[in-house]
Amino acid sequence: MNVQLNNITVQKVKSSKINEVDFSNLAFGSVFSDHMLECTYKNGVWETPKVVPYQPITLDPSSKIFHYGQSIFEGMKAYKDEEGSVWLFRPLENQKRLNISAKRMAIPELPEEYFIDGLTTLLQVDKEWIPQNPGSSLYIRPFIFASGNGFHASPADEYKFIIATAPSGAYFSGKVKVLIEEKYSRSANGGVGYAKAGGNYAGQFYPTQLAKVKGYQQVIWTDDNTHEYIEEAGAMNIFIRINDTLLTGPTSDRILDGITRKSILEIAADEGIKTEVRKISVTEVVKAAKDGSLKEMFGAGTAAVVSPISGFGYQDTDYELPELENSYSTLLKKRITDIQYNRAEDKFGWRHKVL
Ligand SMILES: *Cc1c(COP(=O)(O)O)cnc(C)c1O
Repeated sequence: MNVQLNNITVQKVKSSKINEVDFSNLAFGSVFSDHMLECTYKNGVWETPKVVPYQPITLDPSSKIFHYGQSIFEGMKAYKDEEGSVWLFRPLENQKRLNISAKRMAIPELPEEYFIDGLTTLLQVDKEWIPQNPGSSLYIRPFIFASGNGFHASPADEYKFIIATAPSGAYFSGKVKVLIEEKYSRSANGGVGYAKAGGNYAGQFYPTQLAKVKGYQQVIWTDDNTHEYIEEAGAMNIFIRINDTLLTGPTSDRILDGITRKSILEIAADEGIKTEVRKISVTEVVKAAKDGSLKEMFGAGTAAVVSPISGFGYQDTDYELPELENSYSTLLKKRITDIQYNRAEDKFGWRHKVL
């Protein structure tokens, strides 16, 4: 049966899968909610989105996504507070970034209201799927791919925008040991590193596999030209604390403009922590590790919020980071998640109520 919600047609599942899900034991992004949002681009326009049952997609073998990787995505979360209200964190930033990625990959930009109204409607329909246990959230994956056909290497004439959601437990990555990369690159000047484009991540898998064989969980990306400047930690932005100053690299063609990164910079400043956005050389970090002024390193991104690094490898030497009682990473993670889960005042105006 179809119903209309916010001018969006909703086709509900015949029977929900929700009772099959163990909400106290959720892995990250592996169980999917009953519904998804679907929107088609055809004949030069994005059609009105629809909410439909979560289901497989049928595509022609010549669809351009398979051959030329024309695809982009976003990652965000919905948080349920103690009263059961549902919140998003800076969702317009995701909407804008999706279109920045779209433009770079020659994908037609999606109207803002389709993203926001579509997501709101989807969350209304699948409200029961948003977990409430501490640290849990509904991970939201909006994505666009080229569904149009043909082996010609050119942009497709048809696309699909889909939002799929996955109830997810608290993301405990544990402390990770990382390898500073000296050969491979994630991104380059003039490239697509600033876009959340599918192929960027496939290109990281092989260097990361090599690092894992050597006993590291993640790669620290350095600039493609000299491998002398630290850029990102896997698919997260990176922060480095030397003495009491918190450093992160400037966003560019090569460093993705993370929403967690820019929120952390503002919260840190609000806490009176000195921050510097500038190029960070490997030489500087190695020197700081040797003289004891290197206090913390952590990745920052939506999934884990902050992911502390226990040590790093560089040129066949391992460097350990100290165990701190009052780390910036713990403090900043608490401040940001308190805002996300509506446990603290939101002086920055980042929280967006959906339900
Ligand atoms: C998504 C992503 C981030 C983090 O962005 P958030 O908006 O904080 O989730 C950082 N680096 C890369 C390469 C990413 O893809």
